[in-house]
Amino acid sequence: MKPIYLFTLFFIFSTVHFSFSQNKPLQIIMIGAHPDDCDIKGGGTAALFAEMGHHVKFISVTNGDAGHMEMGGGALAKRRTEEAKEAGRRLGIEYEVLDHHDGELLATLPVRLEIIRKIREWNADVVISHRSNDYHPDHRYTAILVQDAAFMVGVPNIAPDTPPLSKNPVFLYFQDNFQKPYPFRADIAVDITSVIDKKIYAMDAHVSQFYEWLPWIGNHESEVPKTAEARIDWLKSKRSGQVNESAKVSLEKWYGPQKAAQVKYVELFEICEYGSQPNEAEIRRLFPMLKK
Ligand SMILES: [Zn+2]
Repeated sequence: MKPIYLFTLFFIFSTVHFSFSQNKPLQIIMIGAHPDDCDIKGGGTAALFAEMGHHVKFISVTNGDAGHMEMGGGALAKRRTEEAKEAGRRLGIEYEVLDHHDGELLATLPVRLEIIRKIREWNADVVISHRSNDYHPDHRYTAILVQDAAFMVGVPNIAPDTPPLSKNPVFLYFQDNFQKPYPFRADIAVDITSVIDKKIYAMDAHVSQFYEWLPWIGNHESEVPKTAEARIDWLKSKRSGQVNESAKVSLEKWYGPQKAAQVKYVELFEICEYGSQPNEAEIRRLFPMLKK
């Protein structure tokens, strides 16, 4: 090969490499207890990340095999895994369902090691999960499992078959309404108005949940519309959430008062005290959709 070609090749390679390292996609992982938790609490934010070219993965720690009034066991786990995969396709993200029984999750060492490996394999910059004071035992133990992984993801001697992360990720909590021992704090507010229909469409993939199980257990089965189109409108009316006072304050911080006033739909996150502690500039780097 002539030296001039070699030089050109080197130039192309170094330019591509340089631009890639400058615009390296962010790696976001959300870890919920059930196949639909991440969608409900972070589906809009995931859609925004994906649209910007960043990489998002949802994990459900349980396989959802208790979440139905007529089905159960392997058949339900299979159905819910397929629903989750479809929701992932609709959001443009990856969705993995781990094989632990629904309603029986415990914060054991083997599951902790599994979670550590999943966070490492995704090379996560940001990890988002439940708070540990949630009503559902699976949510609580998922929260504990993720908190227990927060330091260990960087420790080489723990789960040594999977290389440790060189930088500790930022750990965040999904929003909830539980007040004790302390209420949720809206540290980060993401305007999801532009992607609300995509979020609802992803949730719509969980047919067994939003149109069957949750209406049944909530005693409002008769409300569920029959046609696909009416169902999506109904789901949007039930599940979009309101911009409350604390969301407003956080939105104004991140978007400025003018933009914040136009936000119709929002997702909120609290910074966990474990893992990397981001300053404002780091939060803006990790959440590039936050712009004044
Ligand atoms: Zn759940």
